[in-house]
Formats: sequence, structure tokens, C-alpha cells
Amino acid sequence: MKAIVTGGAGFIGSHLVKTLLEKQVEVIILDDLSASGDEHEMILNNSRLYQYDVKSADAYRVVIEEQPDFVFHLAAQADVTKSILAPVYDADVNIGGTINMLEASRTAGVKKFIFASTSAVYGDVQKLPITEDDPVLPISFYGISKLAAERYIQLFHDLYQLPYTILRYGNVYGPGQRSKGEGGVVAVFLERLKRREPIMIHGDGTQSRDFIYVDDIVSANIAAMDLERSGIFHASTGTSTSILDLAACFQQLEASVDVAFTSERTGDISHSCLSNEKAIAKMNWKPAVDIFEGIKKTWQLS
Ligand code: NAD
Repeated sequence: MKAIVTGGAGFIGSHLVKTLLEKQVEVIILDDLSASGDEHEMILNNSRLYQYDVKSADAYRVVIEEQPDFVFHLAAQADVTKSILAPVYDADVNIGGTINMLEASRTAGVKKFIFASTSAVYGDVQKLPITEDDPVLPISFYGISKLAAERYIQLFHDLYQLPYTILRYGNVYGPGQRSKGEGGVVAVFLERLKRREPIMIHGDGTQSRDFIYVDDIVSANIAAMDLERSGIFHASTGTSTSILDLAACFQQLEASVDVAFTSERTGDISHSCLSNEKAIAKMNWKPAVDIFEGIKKTWQLS
């Protein structure tokens, strides 16, 4: 079995590549290395890397020539703040890059297109937990570009019968994550812990997120390979953890860590929690790592 993982040199992609290799899947990474770190070199050594932009004709050609069974499309401009500063670039990569990979996938006869989407498609929803059928109203260009990519994927399915699974991730954390992007707060806290600096909480810390450990995201991607029907699923824990509780996890690991409060960030949503009932019922998957265990593993493996 052969798979292409776009963004396979990034935080989540490199964990996925490692698991696919362990499962004896032949893995090809398509990544321009624009946002990947050095720590992924070992994984790159065990798989083939094409250093191309997913928008490019070269990347298109790789999919056609390699004829993979699966395309995991994770390459993206994945930083919300950057999307506000550079909306054209964000749309180019997240929409244009996805269309290029879809065109190549349907031409190559790919069995399934598995896409990394996000809770950012919902915007600031008051209802918790959110289900896959709730209205989408993104409040960042990143949320819009991911939602547009989802719509293209669905239309490629309707017009050309390209099977797909769209996984809308919660806030992913784990070893190898750098302190930027969507799920960055855990990485930021860890960095401060390493430097023995106080953890800084924006606002009063009651804001909450659906934090999910990277291994659980990998297992959701693997489960998606066997799903017969195309669809959208949350890859989430279905529980929300406040930033105060997150800080408490860090204090359990390292009692000497101080917590300090700073001004609220504008544009931050208050709460986010994605129901995972549909994924558990239909995907033969469920998350296995709770927040304290996940933080501990991240700390030990970082
Ligand atoms: P990441 O930035 O670590 O990885 C993205 C990878 O894509 C990087 O290796 C980068 O070099 C590559 N890339 C970027 N633009 C490219 C391009 N034009 N052509 C080829 N490669 C390109 O991000 P991540 O946290 O691992 O996220 C992976 C995916 O999961 C993204 O699609 C992201 O939107 C999605 N996601 C992440 C989270 C999270 O909490 N980290 C949450 C929801 C969704």
C-alpha cells in the first residue's frame, strides 16, 4: 500500500508518517519544508521526500507518477494570525494547493483523500459541544480557506466520485510541536517551563479548548483509511479544558512553575469543544490519551 502525506515533515504529518511506516505502508512526503523543523530528519530518512510546493506542477506530477492509494493532505498555511496578515498567501496554499492535490488525486485514481480540517471553520459558536451539522461561520481567513477546501473536496466527490474523509481537528498538541499556530499554547507553556519562566495566561484563564494529543489524531487518520462512506468527522476529545486547568497540569509536573496573568488577546474565542460522538460511532476510533497523560508524554518526549 502506498500513501502520499503532504505536510509530512510538519508537526502532525511527521507523527502520521512514522505510524504509516510502522504499518509497512510505503510513504511519500510532499512538503516544501517552509514550516517544518529539524527534528523531523529521522523520519525523512526512512521515507521519500519531494520538496515541492503543493500548488506546483511538480507536486501534481508526483501524485500522477506515484499513483498512491491514499493522499493525506496536511500541508497548509496553518497559522491563524498569519492568515489575517497574509490572506492571499493563506488562500493560495490552503485553497489552491488543495485543488491541485484534488485534481491530481482524481486523475491518479486515488482510493481516498483524507483532509486535515479544523474547528476554525465554526468561528465563535456559543453552543457546546459543536456537532458536524452545526452552522459554519469562520472568523479568520484560515477558517474560510479550510472551509473552502472542504467544499472543493465534497464537489470533487460529487462530480468525480473521489472518496474523501474530512477530519476537523480540535487543538492538537504533542512532541515536536513548535510554539506557533493553532494548538500552540501547550508548546508555548512547555518552552517557558524548560526555560524556568512563569507560564503566562492571557485574560482570566477560563477560556477553554478541546485539546487532543497528536497520537489520537494519527489514529483518526488511520481509521479514516477503512471508512467506506465519505464524510466529515470531528477528531476531538469531546471535552474542553480551561487554560487554568492546563496550567494546573503543568504545575503537577513541575511544582515550582509560576503562573502569571497578562492582558486578554483580541479575537480569541471563549470556548471550543467538538463532539466526537459521530466519529466514535462510525469510524471505529476513539481518543485514548487524557490531557494530563498527554502533557506528561509531551514533556517527557520534548
Ligand atoms: P505544521 O505547520 O507543523 O505542518 C505543515 C507542513 O506543511 C509543514 O511541514 C510545511 O513545511 C508544509 N507546507 C506548508 N505550506 C506548504 C506548501 N505550500 N507546499 C508544501 N508543503 C507545505 O502544521 P501542523 O500543526 O502539523 O498542521 C498540519 C495540518 O493540520 C494543517 O493542515 C493544519 O491546518 C491542520 N490542523 C492543525 C491543528 C493543530 O492544532 N496543530 C488543528 C487543526 C487543524
